[in-house]
Amino acid sequence: MSMVASVIEKESTITVVNPQDGSFVGEVYSANEADAQRAIAIAVAAAGIAKKLPAHVRMSVLNQVADALFQQKELFAQMIAREGIKTINEARKEAIRCVDTLRISAEEARRLTGETIAFDQAPGSENKFGYYKRLPLGVVVAITPFNDPLNLVAHKIGPAIAAGNTVILMPHSETPLVAKMLIELFAKTELPEGVLQLVTGRGEIIGDVLVSDPRVNMVSFTGGSSVGNKILAQTGLKKVAMELGSNCPAVILADADIEHALDATVSGAFWAAGQNCLHVQRIYIQDELYAQFSQAFVKRAQTILMGDKLQEDTEMGPMINEKAALKVEFLVNDALSKGATLLCGGNRKGAFYQATVLADVSNDCLIAKEEVFGPVTLLYRFDDIEEAIAMANDVDYGLQAGVFTRDLDLAFKVADSLECGGVMINESSDYRIDAMPFGGVKGSGLGREGVMSTIHEMTAAKTYCFNLRK
Ligand code: NAP
Repeated sequence: MSMVASVIEKESTITVVNPQDGSFVGEVYSANEADAQRAIAIAVAAAGIAKKLPAHVRMSVLNQVADALFQQKELFAQMIAREGIKTINEARKEAIRCVDTLRISAEEARRLTGETIAFDQAPGSENKFGYYKRLPLGVVVAITPFNDPLNLVAHKIGPAIAAGNTVILMPHSETPLVAKMLIELFAKTELPEGVLQLVTGRGEIIGDVLVSDPRVNMVSFTGGSSVGNKILAQTGLKKVAMELGSNCPAVILADADIEHALDATVSGAFWAAGQNCLHVQRIYIQDELYAQFSQAFVKRAQTILMGDKLQEDTEMGPMINEKAALKVEFLVNDALSKGATLLCGGNRKGAFYQATVLADVSNDCLIAKEEVFGPVTLLYRFDDIEEAIAMANDVDYGLQAGVFTRDLDLAFKVADSLECGGVMINESSDYRIDAMPFGGVKGSGLGREGVMSTIHEMTAAKTYCFNLRK
């Protein structure tokens, strides 16, 4: 197994700091363009080996890593919490989910089959027999964000290996250390040299090389819309998966179980300090429930304990850096200057931004349409359900949505009408299991993740047809 980061002489490094206080966490090599090109050459050379790896070897590698990760889950959680934005409790959940993602990947490797084709449905093809099977694409470049720095890495390398591809991983340069720990677990297995490589480096320096090279067969990207669009302009003719941002809505109907809706939406709003593509950014509440729901939502937001991520009782950590917190502050201030009402929060200290709730946000505010990617939620009131659906859809994003009601007919109606990749009934947008198809419509992306879906995206059907002479 080759890890580009460790085989190249140190010329420059990326220093990783704890976003809450700037303290040193570690450093990684900062790859340059030549390193990226070398990684591609290694991946291309190993593609034939990866393609021929039997399913039982691919499964065994993935299960070994899942087992090792499970054994060391606390170490991994500590690293997620130190270099990233999650509290230790949030980080523990991510480590466990990553074990699951790898185990599901191993399981799916055994199901990577095709099916026979009924050629005789076409007149003149009565003597034809055939089938298709799914073959790996070859070289996959995987680019991941900072907010789930372990599990979103597993969502790409698990399926890529399960499908028989080679994969080059470029993790976010502010959270590369936990990704490196995961790659080191793979290095202890029998996975052949070059099948999995880690390239740590700045996206703006090596990104173009990795995504534009014609020897790369697929770019699987999770991150923000602006980088996503930049990549799309560079890739040329190759497969692309884009898991981008959103500003997810929740629709609370008058008959909803209010306590349950509060539990789900408060958690979805402030998990990972809102740095979550499934973040509950906009809540539409039916008139009859508005006063009760909004008061209770604000009360809960006010009690969220923000602070040191490694303290067991901390409920919310910082933004990834002060620049990100300043951006949230700018979006909130823009709304306030245009007449929005601040129901709670609105304060920043360094990289920390308070849990914030706004009402009366007009459509000309940036935050009404953009992704805030921070702990800010907007409350809206509606009377007629059609009005709520129209408002929820009136954005350029569409990842997931939540609907809260006891009325099955209404649930179906709203769920069918919301423009997004997944609707959670009596759950917030922030519900996901790692085996379900996952992805967005509109500006939220292209393609689907969720292990089986990703394997599908990372393979291509090849058809075999036999002309039998009877
Ligand atoms: P980001 O700034 O777009 O960065 C994502 C990755 O892209 C990083 O590894 C970054 O590397 C790399 N990159 C930067 N410039 C590049 C270039 N020119 N070519 C290739 N790669 C480049 O996103 P982020 O701030 O980490 O993540 C937040 C966003 O991700 C939010 O919008 C969130 O909603 C979205 N997200 C979506 C999902 C989903 O499944 N739909 C899940 C999680 C997050 P550097 O670190 O070196 O800049």
